Amino acid sequence: MVSRVIPVDTFDLVIFGGTGDLARRKILPGLYRRFLGGQMPQDSRIIAAARSDMSDDEFRAQVRAAIEEFVAADKRDAAVIDEFVARISYVAIDATGENGWAQLKDTMRDGVIRAFYFSVAPSLFGAIAERLSDHGIADPQSRIVVEKPFGRDLASAKALNAVLAQHFAEEQIYRIDHYLGKETVQNLMAVRFANILFEPLWKAQYIDHVQITVAETVGVDGRGAYYDTSGAMRDMVQNHLMQLLCLIAMEPPYHFDPNAVRDEKLKVIRALDPVAPEDIVRGQYLKGGDQDGYVAHSGNPHSRTESYIALKVHISNWRWKGTPFYLRTGKRLRARASEIAITFKEPPHSIFDDAEGWRENVLVIRLQPNEGMNLMVMIKEPGPGGMRLTQVPLDMSFAEALGEEGEDIPDAYERLIMDVIRGNQTLFMRGDEVEAAWAWADPIIEGWERRGDRPRGYEPGTSGPEDALMLLHRDGRRWREIRE
Ligand code: NAD
Repeated sequence: MVSRVIPVDTFDLVIFGGTGDLARRKILPGLYRRFLGGQMPQDSRIIAAARSDMSDDEFRAQVRAAIEEFVAADKRDAAVIDEFVARISYVAIDATGENGWAQLKDTMRDGVIRAFYFSVAPSLFGAIAERLSDHGIADPQSRIVVEKPFGRDLASAKALNAVLAQHFAEEQIYRIDHYLGKETVQNLMAVRFANILFEPLWKAQYIDHVQITVAETVGVDGRGAYYDTSGAMRDMVQNHLMQLLCLIAMEPPYHFDPNAVRDEKLKVIRALDPVAPEDIVRGQYLKGGDQDGYVAHSGNPHSRTESYIALKVHISNWRWKGTPFYLRTGKRLRARASEIAITFKEPPHSIFDDAEGWRENVLVIRLQPNEGMNLMVMIKEPGPGGMRLTQVPLDMSFAEALGEEGEDIPDAYERLIMDVIRGNQTLFMRGDEVEAAWAWADPIIEGWERRGDRPRGYEPGTSGPEDALMLLHRDGRRWREIRE
């Protein structure tokens, strides 16, 4: 298959927080891969802006080290790395003061796209937006990219939207949710809306339930103090799992256009029912072997913050009434695995006397690892002996199906940054979507805080608290096994 990489327009990309962890692990290696792939125009430039004083060459050395660490060996080409780092410069800047802003302004070129990536703590978003605008560094075509978390409740998200809106139009603001940049997530839309096969069945009448799982093996080690102010609901469900739910549940947009897609997602969020306390299970990982438990990692012996959450969610609209969406996410679980599983209902009537071996059709969309899709279908068990049924997967691993091109699936961040340069907001959250998601999440969080609910302890390396199994068992269903 011939790779079709369409270069974007020439840009100056400023990364605030260019020396930070996210820039080092994701943004800069991702930009290098796009440069290597021929998508980043030769005359584009990257300007890192952060607090420390350092020269361009000192920063370039950091970028080389980041590429060494985070780019696969077969993609590291010494000559290309030299060319790439030559396009990078560094400005020491104080986001909350006046140092560095004049220099940044002088660095920017006219006639190219200006993009500003806010890879800094959210408490600095407002100060940076204000200075970009006061110093005349941003123009009406400029774009800003803001990282998560976007607020910690509805009030703070509204405040943040209001601050950004003072300086930038909504069309200039790119709220990043890297889950939306994943190949499979976009493929979900292609599978739904570019085929006739699934959409007629895509409703409560034919779908029994949906499971969305985002399981991690890591704990909160190292960032426990921050995490303890957040928890799995704020850190994962309100944003990432909610976005996945929206893409599964939304009505077909009239066009694959940013506002058409985001309008449909917003309608789903607004149709979500409040979640009853008995439909929520929260957990905290316990100490296991020589590994500390959540409480020690958080540094708060009385912490009630959840490192795991499972929820049963209902969408009250014509399409989904009666089909539950079960969501779960947690840390220190059995495997690192993210997937969406759509379980279809039984056929209305079985023509086989002996339906032994019958199982539901399941469409599994794997986000990581091994991005791909799998459709579990029933067939006749081969061989003599009558009509016995067995289930087989129609497996489509993207890396295999797409050959060499599949091996080179761009990372979510690099894809999303290229979308920013293209001016395509489809895979970014709009302000009203984020607010609606908080309006749904806030009462759930307030509910458990008011009741004083404590998370259940769970053994690390398992699939979470026992109570989460009951959430499905009592509905006559079971979670899929968490495995890589
Ligand atoms: P970090 O602490 O590693 O880096 C922060 C960066 O901000 C540094 O470059 C620092 O120099 C700069 N900075 C801090 N104060 C400054 C100031 N007053 N003026 C100018 N620069 C200043 O943080 P990070 O982990 O890279 O995270 C950055 C953002 O990305 C945060 O909003 C975070 O929530 C979000 N995020 C990070 C990750 C991740 O994996 N690290 C994942 C998702 C989202």
